[in-house]
Amino acid sequence: MLGLSQSFFWPMCYNKPMSYRTIKIDWLPQSGQQWKTFTEARLEAGRLWSWLVERHADARQPGGLWPSKADLQREIKRQFPCLHSQSAQQIVGDFCEAIASAETLRKHGEPYDYPHKKPRYRQVIFTNQGAKLRAHTLSLPCGKAGTLHVRLPKGVALPGRLMEVRLSYGCIELVCAMLEEARTGGATIGIDLGVNTLIAATDGDQALLLSGRAIKATMQLRNKRLAEIRAKQAHTTQGSRRHRRLQRAKYQMLRATKNKIRDLCHKATRKVAEVFPNATAYVGAPFNDAAQKMRRVQAQTVASACNRKIISLLNYKLAACLEVDERYTSQTCPVCGARSQHRRTYRCTCGCNAPRDVVGSVNIRTIGIGGAMRPGCSVPNAIHWAYPSKYPATCVAGSPSDTGQVARVETREAAGACAPAECHS
Ligand SMILES: [Zn+2]
Repeated sequence: MLGLSQSFFWPMCYNKPMSYRTIKIDWLPQSGQQWKTFTEARLEAGRLWSWLVERHADARQPGGLWPSKADLQREIKRQFPCLHSQSAQQIVGDFCEAIASAETLRKHGEPYDYPHKKPRYRQVIFTNQGAKLRAHTLSLPCGKAGTLHVRLPKGVALPGRLMEVRLSYGCIELVCAMLEEARTGGATIGIDLGVNTLIAATDGDQALLLSGRAIKATMQLRNKRLAEIRAKQAHTTQGSRRHRRLQRAKYQMLRATKNKIRDLCHKATRKVAEVFPNATAYVGAPFNDAAQKMRRVQAQTVASACNRKIISLLNYKLAACLEVDERYTSQTCPVCGARSQHRRTYRCTCGCNAPRDVVGSVNIRTIGIGGAMRPGCSVPNAIHWAYPSKYPATCVAGSPSDTGQVARVETREAAGACAPAECHS
């Protein structure tokens, strides 16, 4: 029953030397006593969170004053005996963070929600002062409820210092901090993220274009299926057998789509990392907030671009991934600096012809290096088209699995084609 999966996440600042890695273990209690401790701790965590939600609702009344984090941590002392003191304080910290982020959204005039749900159960968080790992056994103290002892599955080694353990129903997450080794010596590349072309990357000499059609199609099918299931559910009573059956089908479909998209994102970013090893990448900042102002169909495709996820993947597969302002990058000619709008192919009056995404990535690279766009750059001659998953190997000149597909911009223009070329292996 013990499965294992690993996931990465980085703090908001993408170029910090310290990184965190989360290891996820599937786990459920084995004995009656363990179940008792496990349930009591999760109930107590839910009770504490609900208490905080009420406390905050009271404080929002006229004349109310929201106490500081330290005040709250003092207030809850000895009130929640089935939690380790550090776990209780950590939950208070999480709650304060949720409040702070809602307040930031409110200040910026964006839609916000204070925590308002009062859950029965909640995940229990253990700090590294509470959770202890000795001889491959993790002990999680839960105050008066007892201590849980979890044997880590074989082959699981922590990549760094244990910082935090999160205990939820069915899984345990171990957060480890590790120093990131300095990766240097790579090229400086510009990356333009898009929908039809998922990633356009260039180092000035060659450009790599990865098709985003597979992700787009997967997203479109997902939305279509979701609409179908929802339409069927509208004719059923909530809680009925048919409703529950449809609900199951819905979540199964959503899970499958999520896995497929994650797989495609991993494969696409891996290709970039293979063509430009250890590169420092500059990437246009995602514009998901713009999606809200767009038409419906367009908004769907923009939101599906999952740019934020791709950036975090690139950040650990390359040396660094830094965000720059990408406004007008795909509308400005890198050669003469004139600005004009084009469809898939950029045709400037000065004679510069290139796929629009290549123009975008060249300009993003210039902004990353020099701080602003400036005319006089050249457009890369060699442009490789690739699919994230269709062919396992990369299209790099010289590698054994090279497809030999190198497109000269001029000749492609003469042929009038700009769609991703078929790679023949
Ligand atoms: Zn031009």
